Amino acid sequence: MFKECNKANYRKGRTDKIKYIVIHYTAGNGDTAKNNVDYYANNAVSASAHYFVDENEVWQSVPDFDTAWAVGGTKIYKHPECRNANSISVELCSRNKNGGGRPAADGGWYFKEETVKNAANLVRELMKKYDIPPQNVIRHYDVWNKICPAPFVNSAEQWERFKEMIEMTELVSVNDIVWELAELGVISDKKLWLKKLADDQNAYWLARKAVNRIRNMSSV
Ligand SMILES: [Zn+2]
Repeated sequence: MFKECNKANYRKGRTDKIKYIVIHYTAGNGDTAKNNVDYYANNAVSASAHYFVDENEVWQSVPDFDTAWAVGGTKIYKHPECRNANSISVELCSRNKNGGGRPAADGGWYFKEETVKNAANLVRELMKKYDIPPQNVIRHYDVWNKICPAPFVNSAEQWERFKEMIEMTELVSVNDIVWELAELGVISDKKLWLKKLADDQNAYWLARKAVNRIRNMSSV
């Protein structure tokens, strides 16, 4: 869904090709994607992001081919190349178990599992669309030293997990699909299923869809 950002918060067009996806957190406590697009539509704050993700939905605020003002705010960059002009920014709605208004270094910041899954799905789509390799999906923190997204900066492990989720490729070979379904305990007779999926195109497509969906769900 799309609700256009206030024109004072972003620049039309881009001066560079899309090469990076930058992940952020909203620093809200229980905010929604819709809350955020409303805020950026109704207020001139000279800041923006392309997408906002919560546990239920994805909202777009700035079109992909326009420049969001999301990764700046410093003169000291640690990333040699990633800037607003060549990146798409994705904000994940956050929560804090210690309450709202906490500093970024507070250990209470977290993302709901569904939010992380929705963000991973969106990022995978964008990677495909713009041919962006996994190593070019980075945190705001990797552009400069801002603690953003707090849950993925305060916990390197959580960030690694997200990176694994976006790197997971879809299973397409009959062998891999049958092997994975057997591993999951969905089927037991591998030989029978290898033959079935090889012979029956419809069964192949159904099994392929099912196994990839299960992988996406169990990866978090
Ligand atoms: Zn950020």
